Amino acid sequence: MITDRPPRSSKARREFEESDALTRLATLPNAHDLQDSALLLEKALATGDARSVRVEGVSILGLLARTYGISAPRLRVLGTRPRQIWEGGHFELFGDYDFAEKRIRVWMRTAVLGKVTSYRGLLHTLLHEFCHHLDREGLGFLETPHTRGFHARVDDLYHLALATPPERRRPLVWIRTGRVWRIDWSKLRYSPGTASVEPK
Ligand SMILES: [Zn+2]
Repeated sequence: MITDRPPRSSKARREFEESDALTRLATLPNAHDLQDSALLLEKALATGDARSVRVEGVSILGLLARTYGISAPRLRVLGTRPRQIWEGGHFELFGDYDFAEKRIRVWMRTAVLGKVTSYRGLLHTLLHEFCHHLDREGLGFLETPHTRGFHARVDDLYHLALATPPERRRPLVWIRTGRVWRIDWSKLRYSPGTASVEPK
């Protein structure tokens, strides 16, 4: 995981810094509800059936949207990820979020081997894309930049969904590289198994 570069314009820069500083979500969804929904997503993914995965993904997004009092983003669950660069929003390895459509897309299969993606990878992607939606609809971060705060907010939801015991959680440790920050994985015991690819 890596942050975006801080923007140059002062208004965007201010939003970026606010997002960077917001490392915790003041409100979190009900833990049991989120964990139950995440387990159902895991079961659906194991069947390899995109429609079932979508049903459970919609359920998670609905729970999160109710928690934050925002609209639920739409969700499309697709098969093999196309190899393309897309500029209309944010594009990750296994998902994207379209600003205009307020729509998340996740791909269930890897581009290279067509294998079903890992449950943890898919869950992380879904929550990452939801946090873009939350940034724009709930937190007022219209550019929804990848900041240390953004990744920390995703991390909170991810570990809540997985019911990670507190002693197994480590805070995200960042190393500065030029104008961006990257995670120091050597300081963490887990990897979400997903990486970001940004259109630049
Ligand atoms: Zn993103």
